[in-house]
Amino acid sequence: MKYRRLGNSGLKVSEIALGSWLTYGETVEQENAINCIHQAYELGINFFDTANAYNRGEAEKVVGKALKDYERSSYVLATKLYFPMGDEPNQRGLSRKAVIEQCDASLKRLGVEYIDLYQCHRFDTETPVEETLRALDDLVSQGKILYYGVSEWSAQQIQQAADIVKQYRLHPIVSNQPIYNMLVRYIEKEVLPVSVKEGIGQVVFSPLAQGILTGKYKPGKQLPNDSRAANNQINRWIQSYLRDDVLSCIQRLENLSSELGLQLSQLAIAWILRQPGVSSAIIGASRPSQIAENVKASGVVLTEDVLTEIESILNE
Ligand code: NDP
Repeated sequence: MKYRRLGNSGLKVSEIALGSWLTYGETVEQENAINCIHQAYELGINFFDTANAYNRGEAEKVVGKALKDYERSSYVLATKLYFPMGDEPNQRGLSRKAVIEQCDASLKRLGVEYIDLYQCHRFDTETPVEETLRALDDLVSQGKILYYGVSEWSAQQIQQAADIVKQYRLHPIVSNQPIYNMLVRYIEKEVLPVSVKEGIGQVVFSPLAQGILTGKYKPGKQLPNDSRAANNQINRWIQSYLRDDVLSCIQRLENLSSELGLQLSQLAIAWILRQPGVSSAIIGASRPSQIAENVKASGVVLTEDVLTEIESILNE
């Protein structure tokens, strides 16, 4: 496993991280979830991502429980806040009250004394950015969080926040967590350049487009029984990818990956990691064998010819 700096900070994160959305504390039963997290750690993943809102705190509990077996300094634990955690108006968003209270609640569920990376899950249009940043800065000063970042913020929102941080000499924003994969590339235009300029690393989610970029979904064929797409409880987010034209394109990418002696998942992750502005790709996994396959993407270098070939397949 290779490690990268998280933006301009000194923190080193594995270039492949493990997340817990829709899986741990939800559809993956606890023993299997803990086995996945342990498998990841044993294979060199030191970066684990969760959120307070993932099944209303249940994911945080499982991630915290699994990581209890390891020395605290040996892993980087990231969580987030913003989405509703209750029906009250202040149990959501990024107000000072929410930031302080949600952090305490996450610390309890995770069973740790500090969070390594605390992320604003979305931008809150109803709270001044300065209020949020000052609350996060206070949490760093109190030692409850070590670093903070954002998730799915636009280039303009990132720039605005970075300017406030500089103006008031606050602790810096170290990361942004956007979606990024071969099929969804909007960050390349503005978010990546602004972030690189401001020293903010991307920790990207859905690198496999929720499993589409493994090649297991075939055009015109039945969905594999044990897959996210076949699970009615959680398949609403994957639907937009399940089109024959997309799946045919994926088949051509799979042919290319076989020629290179790689699994498609490995090619897809290596393609993301070619971007110097990316600090880590956060995968999901419903079983340990998927993690064993996906981590082999770390260190794979794609030649210019291969990148050109990928570009032409994606543009067909
Ligand atoms: P991926 O694109 O990596 O998809 C993960 C899913 O793909 C797995 O759960 C599994 O599903 C399938 N899969 C993974 N590897 C393989 C393999 N080798 N072979 C076959 N199937 C495989 O990521 P996610 O979309 O799950 O997102 C990853 C993480 O990113 C989340 O856990 C979360 O931490 C973060 N995230 C953040 C968001 C944000 O707003 N900040 C939003 C979404 C995610 P299955 O086996 O069930 O088919």
